[in-house]
Amino acid sequence: MSDAIRLLPDAIANQIAAGEVIQRPASVVKELLENALDAGANNIQLLLKDAGRTLIQISDNGSGMSPTDARMCFEKHATSKITSADDLFCLHTLGFRGEALASIAAIAHVELRTRRAEDELGTKIIIEGSHFKSQENCSCPIGTTLMVKNLFYNVPARRKFLKTNNAELRHINEEFQRVAMVHPQVQFSMTHNDKILYQLKGTHLKQRLAHIIGTAKYEEKLIPIEEGTDAVRISGYIGKPEYARKKRGEQYFFANQRFIKHPYFNHAVEQAYKELIPDSAYPSYFIFLEVAPEDIDVNIHPTKVEVNFADKQLIYAVLAAAVKKAVGQFSVAPTIDFSPESNANFLFPKDKVPQTPKIHINPDYNPFEQQAAQERQLQAKHNLEHWERAYQPSNTTTAPSMPSPHEETKTDLFLSDLNTASHQAQDDKQAHFIQIGKQYIATTTKSALLLIHQQHADERILYEGFLNKYEHKSIQSQQLMFPVNIKLNADEIAVIKELLQEIEQFGFRIDFMGQHTMVVNAAPTDVKESQIPQVFDELIADFARGQDLRQDAKIAFAKSMARRSAIKTGQALSQEEMEQLVNALFACQVSDISIRGEQIWKAVDFPSIETIFKA
Ligand code: ADP
Ligand code: MG
Repeated sequence: MSDAIRLLPDAIANQIAAGEVIQRPASVVKELLENALDAGANNIQLLLKDAGRTLIQISDNGSGMSPTDARMCFEKHATSKITSADDLFCLHTLGFRGEALASIAAIAHVELRTRRAEDELGTKIIIEGSHFKSQENCSCPIGTTLMVKNLFYNVPARRKFLKTNNAELRHINEEFQRVAMVHPQVQFSMTHNDKILYQLKGTHLKQRLAHIIGTAKYEEKLIPIEEGTDAVRISGYIGKPEYARKKRGEQYFFANQRFIKHPYFNHAVEQAYKELIPDSAYPSYFIFLEVAPEDIDVNIHPTKVEVNFADKQLIYAVLAAAVKKAVGQFSVAPTIDFSPESNANFLFPKDKVPQTPKIHINPDYNPFEQQAAQERQLQAKHNLEHWERAYQPSNTTTAPSMPSPHEETKTDLFLSDLNTASHQAQDDKQAHFIQIGKQYIATTTKSALLLIHQQHADERILYEGFLNKYEHKSIQSQQLMFPVNIKLNADEIAVIKELLQEIEQFGFRIDFMGQHTMVVNAAPTDVKESQIPQVFDELIADFARGQDLRQDAKIAFAKSMARRSAIKTGQALSQEEMEQLVNALFACQVSDISIRGEQIWKAVDFPSIETIFKA
């Protein structure tokens, strides 16, 4: 019998790899903009035809490439930016896997023109679907121009997955704006089908924001924010409370010069605005976080915008304090807290030397391997145990010699405490949970009484569960005995169709009947059948409210399913159910703030108990 295994030809391997990096025209735009910036350009021009389907062209005045480099740059793992795996953990340039150009060249017709300052002639290279066509000398300006034509011409499945030109252009616009915000000193332009959409001169951040948002007098609406601690440096601008918007949208976090999404930090900001703006309004913000590269969970997947921080609770506190301080200094609102407490430095007790928090980086971490949910749970447990060890009550013999600021957050203290309590619960199987008013679960830790809001807790647990399983494509779905029909108008149907991929990844199977009916044939097992119409109602409503980012839709959908399916206030719970709930809660990434932004649990500590008796 002949052998069955063959190596894939490079062209096909590249095409497959391309799927990781290049999902849509906007991914190409992002990679090429970042390359131009890495090359030191201060003038970058983007030209698009048909939302990038037909043409994406980027010209820069950066370093350019030698003839050899010009040829090399399309090879897989060709990069001038890293030489060892260690570099991955302290990288300051933007793209860094040496994969973008190889990927793009695998799925498009590519033409490169490039020249270095020291060369008289430039180089022109043509590559189509990884096949090298030609290389010749040419005369061209210093810098690089890359034309990417007919994207996905050889990947029909990808091409079919693309949305309308408007939707694709919106994605490109997002990427463009994010990059332009981080580099205000660089001149950018963007032209689509011969129409100039942006012409941004090099300037300072505030004016750049105004130019991008494009409304008159925008600069007047911004307040600077500035805060420096050992753990994080914060800068940027936030919107004055009176200009808070009805739509979420002008909300941007950047971590070490990269756009990120961070619902937890978003909560910190919104919380700080809470008393200043109506519930229905959202503050605008453009906040830049700088942390030591080793304190950020380096996400070597370039298309991801989620990142993890070594000490997000500390950053949360610094951020909330910084926002309050900024608003306080620029506003006449009397409600602002001017006390020294609002200064972030209170986090560091005077007699202790703050240490920079560290995370453990796993050098074997492979971003392409799906991380199992259990592994995360284990990690959560490990975290709890770690805290428990770090915080020993003062009467034990092994007091930690050098307390770190990490220990100063209350959550940590209670968590470490609680962990001990739940171990005890396992040991002697006695009633450790009491339900109060069919609404709260009471349990004790070594030094406090813990009150947990059952509905908020379960919503948080389900929400994180849905997102987790979504990421790992492991949602259990169940065929419905009676398919659920939902009547929708044409716009609503369009929304559902635009989000179909995400919806299916959440475990729904959907058909359409006629012009106005969607039929749900299967649903995730955790979602009650009777709640399905509401879940879609909410998804459509959120989307209409301006949550048009795919990412937001995913989060909104997970929230909606969690809200609809969670244990409700008024539901009686058994010992086991309460124990499960509490354990699952503290295995969550965020265990103290509900998906509605409220406190999930409160601890009544020993001093507070004493006050009750003294009063
Ligand atoms: P990476 O950016 O991760 O190194 P890419 O595939 O995006 O990988 O680019 C490969 C290499 O090509 C880069 O490391 C750089 O040396 C070179 N390069 C790409 N774009 C440009 C550009 N616009 N100007 C100069 N050099 C470039
Ligand atoms: Mg790159």
